[in-house]
Amino acid sequence: MTTIPWKAISESENTCKVWRGAYAPHMPFSIFGLEEEILRAIQKAGYTRPTPVQTAAIPKVMQGNDLIAIAQTGTGKTAAFVLPMLHRLSEANRAGKLYGVKALILAPTRELAVQISENIRSYGRHLPIRVAAIYGGVEEEAQIKAIRKGVHIIVATPGRLIDLLGRQKVDFQGLDMIVLDEADRMLHMGFLPDIETIATHLPKRRQTLMFSATLSKEVESLARRFLYQPKMVQIGKRSNPAETVQQYIYEVPVHLKNALLQELLKQPDFKRVLVFVRMKDGADRLTNFLKLAQVKVAKLHSSRSQEQRLQALQDFKDGKAQVLVATDIVARGIDIDGVTHVVNYDFPVNPEDYVHRIGRTGRADAQGEAISFVPKDDLNLLAILEMFIALPLERKRLKGFNYHAPIPPALPGEKQPRRDWRKRTREMEAKKSGPPAKKNAHTTKRVPKKPADKRGKK
Ligand code: AMP
Repeated sequence: MTTIPWKAISESENTCKVWRGAYAPHMPFSIFGLEEEILRAIQKAGYTRPTPVQTAAIPKVMQGNDLIAIAQTGTGKTAAFVLPMLHRLSEANRAGKLYGVKALILAPTRELAVQISENIRSYGRHLPIRVAAIYGGVEEEAQIKAIRKGVHIIVATPGRLIDLLGRQKVDFQGLDMIVLDEADRMLHMGFLPDIETIATHLPKRRQTLMFSATLSKEVESLARRFLYQPKMVQIGKRSNPAETVQQYIYEVPVHLKNALLQELLKQPDFKRVLVFVRMKDGADRLTNFLKLAQVKVAKLHSSRSQEQRLQALQDFKDGKAQVLVATDIVARGIDIDGVTHVVNYDFPVNPEDYVHRIGRTGRADAQGEAISFVPKDDLNLLAILEMFIALPLERKRLKGFNYHAPIPPALPGEKQPRRDWRKRTREMEAKKSGPPAKKNAHTTKRVPKKPADKRGKK
């Protein structure tokens, strides 16, 4: 990765724009004036210098400003808000004022909430600061107990938090800081009313930070309502996929996607592979196929229990599973070290999802590869994506792979051979709207059907 000289980072009074991959060459973490205990924890984590989002955001947060940061996951954005937050709490502790919940972080998914709370524990390992992760899908008793024991930071998904707020199990009267992480995703998932409800429980005087991968109109409107004279930090071009990721397209018929994936997985550099599918049942089917092919695989989707989801992530992180098959909803923001490949088994319908998916590899300086399977029917989606990221993607073909092989037989337990869901949808729609118009044998022109009601009248 190229290091861009420090002067390439431009800053105006309220906005700071830096490029992903730009590092201040000799800037140490100590420049921010963070507490010594935090610097020790950073050293233990192996960080030698701040990333661009940290360089730009930490001083602004330390000064007490509200902040909008446009940064993808993988840029080090979690530390950008957690480090100054811990600094603030540590100061309060020394002044004997550390009591009650001081900071709240809202995240769109349970996995992200758990991950952020783990980061806080790691960066705050030398501080007497307690954190609780509050999310649905598990018994609430342990979470209520943790709050009752006294916590200083809560990381929560909106649903469970509202539940506990409604029953007065948590109190934010002494709150100083709130972070909306992955704000664009939260809006996408329909959390706006929940965020509004939560905001009514927060003190008016507080510091609000908002992190988002993209700056959409909705995100701007959220910022206008909840932030006060915010500073802004923008990392990289809007919607620009991570520069450390090589991106390739494999044009392959739908019925050969399994076989192609199986072949690719045999290559030695496919060590930790995150495979994205569109639907939960697709994830189940692909997982079964890979298991039968003796591939070590774990799966992550929203119908799995919280324990199963955490176990799948752990197996993938520990290397017990070479492949993690996941749907978008649960994989966003997940930070797993050393993902060598992201495979878009199903091409994402939304270009922004593509950017997020491929951001799971090539994180924090490492190189990664993103591969997308594109059947004929998805070529239009590919064209839209290439326009969106303003980058033509390189086409690749796997040597020796038979791209003309017939449809394989059904897997055990599967009723039919796998078919294109689009075709199925088209057929179902055609069924609903009655038989197709008859073709004229000589001209092959379509003969329009006579409307039934007029026929009846004559
Ligand atoms: P995030 O964008 O917060 O999900 O962070 C992505 C990854 O970058 C995580 O694995 C962090 O541990 C790592 N990271 C964060 N800050 C730094 C840094 N200053 N130097 C090296 N790695 C970092």
